[in-house]
Amino acid sequence: MTKRNSPNCIKSNRNYTVIDVSEALGVHPKTVRNWLRVGLPVVDDKRPLLINGADLKVYLKQKRKAVMFECKEHEMCCFRCKQAVKPNVESVNFIAKAAGMAHMTGLCDECGCRMNKYVSWRKVNDIWLELEGKLPIAEKHLILRGQNLLNCPFNGVFSDEK
Ligand SMILES: [Zn+2]
Repeated sequence: MTKRNSPNCIKSNRNYTVIDVSEALGVHPKTVRNWLRVGLPVVDDKRPLLINGADLKVYLKQKRKAVMFECKEHEMCCFRCKQAVKPNVESVNFIAKAAGMAHMTGLCDECGCRMNKYVSWRKVNDIWLELEGKLPIAEKHLILRGQNLLNCPFNGVFSDEK
């Protein structure tokens, strides 16, 4: 049994089923389902679940780096600084993904390198406050590209503070 776990064989412009991913990376389908539970986004809620190749690459990179340095909720892993850093608050964007996830992007405060990670929409407010952003978060930091606005996650995120 070989565990390659290399994102290089994944194509960004393709969608993959759980089985596809498991075969491409040489990991058990259970492992892939576990990734879905802990943050790998799916394309939509339809069955079979499809995973976007670009999302998978980012996720695998994030996972590998996360072993090297722990990131706090509001921190991101800078590949150039090789450490967890706080992104520049003005550069931070949250891009809507299916299943309640957000793709967070931002520039490293130290070196300006672009960073990526996946977070839950429920955490967006907390992360924003930790970064010393002012609430409510400005619309320019939220990208709902490709998402059905009827299911806009913000209704829950911003009005449902329990
Ligand atoms: Zn950096």
